[in-house]
Amino acid sequence: MKSKKSSEAIEQLLEKLPGYYTPFDRDTVQRAYDVAFRVHDGQTRASGEPYINHCVAVATILAEMNMPANVVAAGLLHDTVEDTNLTLKDIQNQFDEDIAKLVDGVTKLDNLPRVSRSDHGKGESADDETDSHEQLSMKKQKIATETLRKTFLAMNDDVRVVLIKLADRLHNMRTLGFVSKPDKQRRIAQETLDIFAPLANRLGIWQLKWELEDLAFRYVNPEKYKYIAERISARRSVREEQITQITERLQQVLNHAGIKAEVKGRPKHIYSIFKKMDKKQKDYDGLNDIRGMRIFVDDIPACYAALGIIHNQWRPIPGEFDDYIAAPKDNFYQSLHTAVQYDDGQPLEVQIRTHEMHHNAEYGIAAHWRYKEDAKHDARYERHVGWLRSLMEWRQEVSNAEEFVDSMKSDVFQDRVYVFTPRGDIIDLPAGSTPIDFAYHVHTDVGHRCRGAKVDGKLVSLDYTLKTGERVQILSSRQGGPSRDWLNESLGLVKTQRARSKIKVWFKKQDREQNLSVGRQMLEREFQRLGLGDLNLENLARSLEFRNPDDMFVALGTGDLPINKVVAMISEEEAPLDEIVTSAPKSDSTATNAISVVGLKGIFTSVAKCCNPTPGDPIIGYITRGRGASIHRQDCPNILRNKERERLVKVSWGETTRTYPVPIRVMAFDRQGLMGDISNLLNGEGVNITDVGVKVDHSAVKADTANIRLVVEVRDLAQLSRLLNRIENLPNVLEAQRFKAG
Ligand code: MN
Repeated sequence: MKSKKSSEAIEQLLEKLPGYYTPFDRDTVQRAYDVAFRVHDGQTRASGEPYINHCVAVATILAEMNMPANVVAAGLLHDTVEDTNLTLKDIQNQFDEDIAKLVDGVTKLDNLPRVSRSDHGKGESADDETDSHEQLSMKKQKIATETLRKTFLAMNDDVRVVLIKLADRLHNMRTLGFVSKPDKQRRIAQETLDIFAPLANRLGIWQLKWELEDLAFRYVNPEKYKYIAERISARRSVREEQITQITERLQQVLNHAGIKAEVKGRPKHIYSIFKKMDKKQKDYDGLNDIRGMRIFVDDIPACYAALGIIHNQWRPIPGEFDDYIAAPKDNFYQSLHTAVQYDDGQPLEVQIRTHEMHHNAEYGIAAHWRYKEDAKHDARYERHVGWLRSLMEWRQEVSNAEEFVDSMKSDVFQDRVYVFTPRGDIIDLPAGSTPIDFAYHVHTDVGHRCRGAKVDGKLVSLDYTLKTGERVQILSSRQGGPSRDWLNESLGLVKTQRARSKIKVWFKKQDREQNLSVGRQMLEREFQRLGLGDLNLENLARSLEFRNPDDMFVALGTGDLPINKVVAMISEEEAPLDEIVTSAPKSDSTATNAISVVGLKGIFTSVAKCCNPTPGDPIIGYITRGRGASIHRQDCPNILRNKERERLVKVSWGETTRTYPVPIRVMAFDRQGLMGDISNLLNGEGVNITDVGVKVDHSAVKADTANIRLVVEVRDLAQLSRLLNRIENLPNVLEAQRFKAG
């Protein structure tokens, strides 16, 4: 049944639709209403009202902001996918792709808390159980804040989605009184103060900002709210009369000077009064019941002219003048602010701006849609969007709320990426994570069966580094397990410890015989690749702390022992590279100068810029706070002046690090840019190439196989092994091996 109230609501919405709407636009809104009405039928809000009233209210807020028809329609439909059986496909079919995209964006935001709960679910964190009730609720609060931050982070940068979300929040705040639990009210209100109001502020939508703030403040700090509200209302009639008088007086002064202006009293906002009281550490009466006026003029010269008139008529109060026209605020707000000593000796605050500046201040980014045709305003819009984008990457702070800012700055946060599952759930991973990490995070079984991945619909390699906001789809086999390559650290296929340990567990479950033979093969293959002859496996096993080679093979097979570790051990103990470099062409090995700090082995050292010591100079080390030791010449003035003698350490120039030329051979299906990729990779490792030869075989048997020979200068076997691994992992490369002549 169609309640009377609901149909009234849609009539009011239709009346408020912007004048520029075409008949088609109006029809879109009407149809969206009909669909929303039908699917929400029977649902009610906490207030007992039909749910559809919420949808209409959100759409009305958007219409009042002059938003295009698609946004208003999406406002009507914003809760359908989440709360009814209407699907995105339905919306796409009955409306269009764009509206579906907007609804999807808003739905994703609403879905977030559910995802967060699974991340911090019961039992996952051991210390949950020992927490006091209070700590637990603080933790929950933190998670909620964290969740919201993730929300905006993972949201694509379609500003329209943000505006719908803000309208949704505004109506929810207007009806927050119907929510029965006070602690829930307080949490939602705090969220609004911490995130949504600052967001509206940064988007320059003053109207939304102040209403959100005042509504939220009422629940966050009821006593203070009541205190201020009562005082405002007690003086309302006196103040209103006063404002009327001042308005007339200002109008008269400006008219007399020949300036066409409109003068209005500035509305009072409870939260901003509270902030002022807080900042000045005064109570309400101490604030002098500040009177604020606004002067609207036609253009910028008129702004300054009006300012001159005002300053001429009344004495300006020093330090109160701000020119936000010449230097707009970072949310692009423009206006002149001043305060003068009025006729009665009390201060009077005056803001002077053009009508256009005012409109922009009230609507901020939403003003864009009003001036669609105007390129000048589009540039402004672009700046807003640009800001929003950087907000998404959280390079900027959006709130003063301490906890919010603190956690935002925390390393944990900066070092994470947020990506979507195909269903739109958000997965939170350490930065640098790959599709395999993602797969294991979704489910261990998905990880085991992962064979490939698509990111935003495109196939990517498994070492692809995921970026925030991407949608990841795992291509999996029906059965089978992980690959041992995944544990090879130099391939960079797995970043998270969580995935790594799950992979190991899988291999551990395989039987010993199989692990043993796989482990043996791995080692043999590595030896062959590195061109190593027979090594003493007994010794190798023992130096790696295994009882015998078989145990070592099993550990390799299960992944407990990374192959890199074996190579490092060989490199260190068994076979110094110079002994086995036999096939290399003779070349001068390059020498890099390393510094060893006596008595402090392994400490990070850097050469001081003040005195730039070169090898051979007598040197001394200085232990810095947190940056290791810096190396100075002993006669460096900075050192001679230094009083903290205990920070000085004896150092000497260490042995020069030798590198060895090693020939390698790369087999690959030839492709554009292959050689470039290889040399980039070597460059990145800081490895010199001293000789290159490429031969492409165009014969029918081996279609376009490239045979690339390189001589690379490496420090040791471990580095060689890593290079070969990484080269082999380049697209089209079949194998990369150390090359042995003869
Ligand atoms: Mn809603």
